[in-house]
Amino acid sequence: MQIQKNYNLSKLNTFGINVDAKFFAEIETEEELRELFSDPIFKENKKFFLGGGSNILFTKDFDGIVVKISMLGKKIIEENEKTVLLEASSGENWHDLVTYTVDKNWGGLENLAFIPGTVGAAPVQNIAAYGGNFSDVFESLLAFNVDTGKIKKFNKEECKFGYRDSIFKKELKGKYIILSVRIRLVKNPRIETSYYQIGIARDSIKDELQKISKPPYGIKDVYQAVINIRQRKLPDPAKIPTVGSFFLNSIISREKYQELKKQVPELQCYPLDQLHYKNLEDPELQNENFVKVATGRLLQELGWLGKWIGNVGVHDRHALIVVTNGKATGSEVVNFAEIIKKSYYDHFGIKLETEVNFI
Ligand SMILES: Cc1cc2nc3c(=O)[nH]c(=O)nc-3n(C[C@H](O)[C@H](O)[C@H](O)COP(=O)(O)OP(=O)(O)OC[C@H]3O[C@@H](n4cnc5c(N)ncnc54)[C@H](O)[C@@H]3O)c2cc1C
Repeated sequence: MQIQKNYNLSKLNTFGINVDAKFFAEIETEEELRELFSDPIFKENKKFFLGGGSNILFTKDFDGIVVKISMLGKKIIEENEKTVLLEASSGENWHDLVTYTVDKNWGGLENLAFIPGTVGAAPVQNIAAYGGNFSDVFESLLAFNVDTGKIKKFNKEECKFGYRDSIFKKELKGKYIILSVRIRLVKNPRIETSYYQIGIARDSIKDELQKISKPPYGIKDVYQAVINIRQRKLPDPAKIPTVGSFFLNSIISREKYQELKKQVPELQCYPLDQLHYKNLEDPELQNENFVKVATGRLLQELGWLGKWIGNVGVHDRHALIVVTNGKATGSEVVNFAEIIKKSYYDHFGIKLETEVNFI
């Protein structure tokens, strides 16, 4: 483990923002973490823990130590005829882990295929996509307290998972390094195919399955369907600088949703905490006073789809996604987002929240 000075971070964040960290270290083992922990530079400086850099926006040079978490490894902790308890280290690539489990026909991660980033970041914002939620398979995690050096086990309840949210994004932000995660997968999986989208980028898992396979469909088909849809709809961060969804879907009252639906009849809504695809009449939503609304569709209504100001723009297939031409600074992205937020508030009277972590 080596602490480097004035380290450029442009290749370590998918927005490609060109900033430096005053100090930088990469840790591949727990021993290296202990070594780092005992170093005065670590003790005395502001810290930021980095995975794949696919959900962060550096707004300026980082005046502290950036620690890249690169611990690798996975192992089976428990296995019976029905389930497998798998432990993966935080530096593992998320999509590679999904592929590994799908190849074994262990169900639970297939809808979360092709999400960039690392295993250690998955609990931080409780990643979710296409009807799959990380919290559905999560069992526990081990995390290193950066003040005391002690390792703590967090169970599901303690993580306080929510929509793109957990205790690690709020109360315990920056207090723990997640070392490894345990997930429970099933050997006789039931497939989740509820995802659909109407409007400009009309698609659904069911339609995609029909195109690529024949029933009875399995998790490998769902995995491939999700990858195909994502490749069509989302920018590839290796080619187009982005962090995926920059904004969150807004949480609004049922009445507000019904009012907006008069303007945008195909406007979709979802339950608050879990990502499932239901309509307002579904039992899961029937008694809810609040819903999450498809904010990308509302931004599209305001003309933001594919719109650029200088070096920053909105993706032309998904209006929650901010992209750049690779020349943007962090503050240009922030200013662009502020303009979008203002137009959303002025038009709909709703505060637009961001998903990305500003550093
Ligand atoms: C094209 C694209 C599509 C995307 N699609 C989705 C999607 O469908 N669903 C979704 O939920 N997200 C999506 N994302 C966002 C992103 O991929 C996820 O949030 C991912 O989990 C971030 O992982 P990362 O390793 O890159 O985290 P980073 O960006 O490096 O870090 C994110 C946050 O987690 C913290 N963190 C990272 N690792 C650790 C650790 N080991 N211990 C403690 N804290 C840590 C960081 O400090 C930071 O606050 C997408 C991003 C892109 C670019």
